Amino acid sequence: MLLLFCSSSHAWYGKTHLAIAQRAGYRYWYNAAAADIARLKAADIEQYNHFVNNKRGAKITPQAVLAQIKKYDSPRDRKGHLYGAIVGSLRHYINAKKEGAFAEDHMAYCVHYIGDLSMPLHNIEYSPFNKRYHLNMDGILEQKVLDNLSEIKIEKITIKTEDELIKEICRVANISMELGFRLEKENRMMTKAEAYRQISMSASLLKAVIEYANYMTHR
Ligand SMILES: [Zn+2]
Repeated sequence: MLLLFCSSSHAWYGKTHLAIAQRAGYRYWYNAAAADIARLKAADIEQYNHFVNNKRGAKITPQAVLAQIKKYDSPRDRKGHLYGAIVGSLRHYINAKKEGAFAEDHMAYCVHYIGDLSMPLHNIEYSPFNKRYHLNMDGILEQKVLDNLSEIKIEKITIKTEDELIKEICRVANISMELGFRLEKENRMMTKAEAYRQISMSASLLKAVIEYANYMTHR
């Protein structure tokens, strides 16, 4: 337990993940928090899929995302590879589906990682500020989020190729990272309004990813 506390952060709490998935229209929304439970036993294989420790001044590029895909599930890449995990888990889903295998568990991971993507502190290094505020920010919307689904605004995004997906990942990651560093500079909590804007980006991207996955597996 001590190790877990030292080396890793949580993420949006469970109901926040469920709310993102519900709002995006994901049929198996109740699986959206499962990847956090998996961390308990899969430990190093799973935990580095949930964040990226970006340094201040970093810019997240498609090349950086591409380089992370092969690190999906790697127990050694402690810098974290959340962006690659989104693409990696989606590839697993699409491949399993095309082979006629049970694929939904892969999608459940992808859904979770897309949720983590908008959490600002999952996109910046694990600084003293990050440590101090992490649990509070993870839980900021938790109590009421499932009653406030209309606060999650869906913006129309269309994804037709993996490159377009990667571009969208970069867009959300850069916005989230910038917010993380701004909060650190201002040494403050995220507001609820900011948090809803963040998870709205996750829900919008997730909706587009579900449509893209359907398109890829039904053609
Ligand atoms: Zn997570």
